[in-house]
Amino acid sequence: MDQPYDPACTYSERARLLTSSAIREILKITERPDIISFAGGLPSPDGFPVDVVRAAYDKVLSTQGRSALQYGPTEGYGPLRAWVAEDLSRQGARVGPDNILILSGSQQGLDLLGKVLIDPGSKVLVETPSYLGALQSFSLYQPRYVSVPSDAGGLQPESLTPALAQGGRFLYALPNFQNPTGRTLDRQRRNALVEATARLNLPLVEDDPYGELRYAGEPQPGLLALGQEAGANVIRMGSFSKVLAPGLRLGYLAAAPSLINKLVQAKQATDLHTATLTQMAVHEIVKDGFLAGHLPAVRELYRQQCTHMLDAMSQHFPQTVRWDTPEGGMFIWVTLPAHIDSTRLLEQAVARGVAFVPGAPFYAGDPQHNTLRLSFVTVSEARIREGVRILGELISAYPQA
Ligand code: PMP
Repeated sequence: MDQPYDPACTYSERARLLTSSAIREILKITERPDIISFAGGLPSPDGFPVDVVRAAYDKVLSTQGRSALQYGPTEGYGPLRAWVAEDLSRQGARVGPDNILILSGSQQGLDLLGKVLIDPGSKVLVETPSYLGALQSFSLYQPRYVSVPSDAGGLQPESLTPALAQGGRFLYALPNFQNPTGRTLDRQRRNALVEATARLNLPLVEDDPYGELRYAGEPQPGLLALGQEAGANVIRMGSFSKVLAPGLRLGYLAAAPSLINKLVQAKQATDLHTATLTQMAVHEIVKDGFLAGHLPAVRELYRQQCTHMLDAMSQHFPQTVRWDTPEGGMFIWVTLPAHIDSTRLLEQAVARGVAFVPGAPFYAGDPQHNTLRLSFVTVSEARIREGVRILGELISAYPQA
């Protein structure tokens, strides 16, 4: 074959910080249909309301086609901003449309926050472990990470001392069914967290793409609503990826109007605005309460998948393995005996046709190598059981230190 067209460029210092993510490399392997993949963070396509989305695009194009195909404001489509503000108000937050920025996926919010809040060397506080995609976004702006300890109950607010928070640009937290751990903060920790960040004058970024996917336990108030009562500065991000479909690339950020204005300037430079047609179609879908009817089926699907995996783990994993039981979302976090390196285990697992994500890349600081993340939503029950059985065998056979 001819050489591919690939002339060289001189990359910026920033571009040199970009490295291929462990997840992306693994996802390449898991594209093979023979692999039982617990690695991906993909929502189940069985939950995508394809006909409803098609009907909404049709309706928008036939009734408002010209404006749907035109450029729009960077802040987002007005009625969708208003819908998001009302939705958050129903959950107890005091916000109006001026507090809302529509994003091309909530991942864009992470990048924009990095752009406007992080200088090289700025202190940024993150959970231990935290969402890999956020660490990748922030890292391009060269922060100095400070890891906030967490346990089975999630982030430990009592560890937020003045010394730890001093000069921090923000704390990035995932209160519901965290990625990667699946852990959720209880009411007491939520209160303690917003009170601590208010007292320490530390902006709190609440990333909550999974909050609507609760299938067990008691619903908890969002940090934005709680934080406003406590005088905290909460920046909330939400997403339509897990409640509708990720291919729409639609999310939002709620914050003080002054920060929204700064983020609008940054977003303008990035992509002018999020696709008008998509915003109008999604507004068409959600405006009359579609999600209230749709989400119970998605939650039930995820609950069943989670139950199959937990059941298989109890059956096949040795007693020495620990895991957290999630109350919602897509992930189970597994802690192996200390001598097992999950990256080495992954190599063995892939050779046997099973994939997962090793825990190490989710740590901003010292990684715990004996951890891993299992995702259960896109795999059939039979394959979940088979994959977990193989993992159980490999863990039991792993050489002692
Ligand atoms: N935050 C978290 C915690 C996530 O898990 C994801 C998706 N995997 C995102 C943000 C980005 O979601 P999106 O851009 O699709 O809204």
